[in-house]
Amino acid sequence: MLELRDARKLYRRPEGVVRALDGVSLSVASGEFVAVQGPSGCGKTTLLLAAGGLLAPDEGTVTVDGQAIYDRPPERRAAIRAHTIGFVFQQFYLVPYLDVLDNVLSPSLAVSSDGARRRAMDLIEHFGIADRLHHTPAELSTGERQRTALARALLNRPKLLLADEPTGNLDGDNAQAVLEYLAEFARSGGAVLLVTHDARAAGFAHRSLRMRQGRLCAAEPAPAV
Ligand code: ADP
Ligand code: MG
Repeated sequence: MLELRDARKLYRRPEGVVRALDGVSLSVASGEFVAVQGPSGCGKTTLLLAAGGLLAPDEGTVTVDGQAIYDRPPERRAAIRAHTIGFVFQQFYLVPYLDVLDNVLSPSLAVSSDGARRRAMDLIEHFGIADRLHHTPAELSTGERQRTALARALLNRPKLLLADEPTGNLDGDNAQAVLEYLAEFARSGGAVLLVTHDARAAGFAHRSLRMRQGRLCAAEPAPAV
């Protein structure tokens, strides 16, 4: 469902060059849940933006659902994003003047979706924010915003879910619920790429990788207890 091949991305700054992706190759199959764990600044968000058709790498290829997304015209790329990819941003990017329900429904503006409202309500209930339906983001806790962003990413039944630190602002129980949902999404045939510095996530993934300074490597097995 997702394949990056030797992706490279440099950020040039007056202070020097940052190698955010330094030759990353990774595939995530349908039904697979892959977690990438690494410290802040190692390139996790850059990796997800590249995978999601939002940031073209300087070199290398990104293929989503069989299509080399950066070789397609921008409108085609936008259509692939709207139909195929669900994105949970680290900073949420909720629309400040829309309430929870309308934020969750906003992807249905891009893709006409049967029963969007029913599905939005199901997701909102599933993530435990039904009693905040008509709150705007400013009236939500950070964790509630995070769950709203996750529900929005799932509205159009994406085939590929890209999640940037989706448990970063959640307490233990809510983080557990989100990770279980991602695992369930993969069991039902979706592909999940999660990036995080949260070690708990690795326990839910089929495959766990580490990222350091723009490079991926296999995670060492957790120490036996
Ligand atoms: P992570 O999500 O793992 O914290 P990022 O992918 O956000 O890492 O960033 C990787 C590195 O690239 C960091 O050192 C960050 O400071 C730098 N970086 C990220 N975005 C930009 C940008 N737009 N311009 C310059 N440097 C950037
Ligand atoms: Mg990040």
